[in-house]
Amino acid sequence: MIRLDHITLTFPDGDTRVTAVDDVSLTARPGTVTGITGPSGSGKSSLLAVAATLIRPDRGHVVVDDVDVSRLTPREAAELRRDRLGIVFQQSNLIPSLTAREQLTVMNELGAPRSRRRRSRAAERADALLDAVGLAEHREKRPHQLSGGQRQRVNIARALMNDPSVLLVDEPTSALDQERGASIIDLILQLTEQLNTSTLLVTHDLVHLPRMHAVVRLVDGRLAEIA
Ligand code: ADP
Ligand code: MG
Repeated sequence: MIRLDHITLTFPDGDTRVTAVDDVSLTARPGTVTGITGPSGSGKSSLLAVAATLIRPDRGHVVVDDVDVSRLTPREAAELRRDRLGIVFQQSNLIPSLTAREQLTVMNELGAPRSRRRRSRAAERADALLDAVGLAEHREKRPHQLSGGQRQRVNIARALMNDPSVLLVDEPTSALDQERGASIIDLILQLTEQLNTSTLLVTHDLVHLPRMHAVVRLVDGRLAEIA
């Protein structure tokens, strides 16, 4: 579960500050996708960055599985991020020299001690996830050999590598056509149910919203009525 409790986030703007997120609260439960929508500049990515514990809010709390992130040391927060949060950013930051499979297994090399057993488990999980996102045939391909939609699938699989309880996804369809975009949304809905993640999905594309379990809309950083 993830709970955002009265989150306010400001950025410096000349002599003043701009309020990117203004007193936003929301909760996402396991097995559900909460859509976050709103016009460009309304604070969607800022809110997601706070949820991802990448930016500390001015006010408010992020609670992941009953752990209040603001009470953690930076090191504990980094561990929580690695173990419990899966993050898919807007731009797919895959490593050009690695195959699809290696993009996933490299996650296993981060932080935790290595062992042969861990490595073979990571390889199995990578293959299962690539299978789940429909890329079983493309494991050995590098990013330049994959389409935009396929790269986005690798991104999603990679975010799930550590079996996170929370999945955070920012505009996954922005670089895709309508049909490929819809199939990425399908995939996120399906994986959320299969893996029981609490998912926050930012999209400004209204056609996808009816399929989500809940939708919130931001306007000028604030929660607004669904238009
Ligand atoms: P959205 O994702 O909905 O398009 P953002 O969260 O990116 O909106 O931006 C919300 C507001 O915060 C905008 O006014 C934007 O200019 C501002 N903003 C976002 N990131 C920063 C930053 N790192 N520094 C200063 N202002 C920022
Ligand atoms: Mg954004």
